[in-house]
Amino acid sequence: MGCKEKTEKVVEIASETAEEMHETTKPDLLNIMPIEHATMILAYKDIVIYVDPVGVPDLFNGKERPTYVLVTDIHGDHMDPTTLKELDLSNAVLIVPKAVAEKLPELNTKELVIMNNGENREFDSLKIEAIPMYNLRKEALKFHEKGRGNGYILTLGNERIYISGDTEDIPEMRQLQNIDVAFVCMNLPYTMTVESAASAVLDFKPKKVYPYHYRGSEGMSDVDKFKSIVNKENTDIDVVQLDWYKK
Ligand SMILES: [Zn+2]
Repeated sequence: MGCKEKTEKVVEIASETAEEMHETTKPDLLNIMPIEHATMILAYKDIVIYVDPVGVPDLFNGKERPTYVLVTDIHGDHMDPTTLKELDLSNAVLIVPKAVAEKLPELNTKELVIMNNGENREFDSLKIEAIPMYNLRKEALKFHEKGRGNGYILTLGNERIYISGDTEDIPEMRQLQNIDVAFVCMNLPYTMTVESAASAVLDFKPKKVYPYHYRGSEGMSDVDKFKSIVNKENTDIDVVQLDWYKK
């Protein structure tokens, strides 16, 4: 599902939450750079995290090389052996579920870490929890079976960041606590409707939610509708729309 157009613009978002938390010191900013669809770069101080890097190497031109790479699942919009081979991973810890590890080509990484659902790891200044991601609707069960892929919760500075991976509104998402920044998928038929995504978000109440992974074979999901459902019930949740599908 990866679209291969060349992209040069980088959107950097200064996290207001981080600023508020560091009123007396220099603000530590979490930079969120959407690359495309499910692919993004998160940067915080010296930490540069590539999430599901796929697509042409041009997409990553001018970006710092990663110190961590997270892969959520085996599908082409999350894991691309060619992209992984072309990126400079020599300074990166590559974190993947077992099903992804089994499909990896030979890579020059600093370290390969296999994490499965329920596992936690602590690195220098990054804590990672791997949590389930899977489908619930009967007709969609074939897309993502429970246990194969990982959603991730990262603790970076004072912020807890949730990356949903490809999932529906599973109880493990609804029960999340203290999430500052959430990336939540919503596309059909692979993940879930905007209504299901909004319902789950209203349950776990992240401070900010970034809809991502919202293009499917049935077109783009209505992200404005997602925002209006969320904010109709809870105006404290900041729904942030980034440019995930650049022309
Ligand atoms: Zn996907």
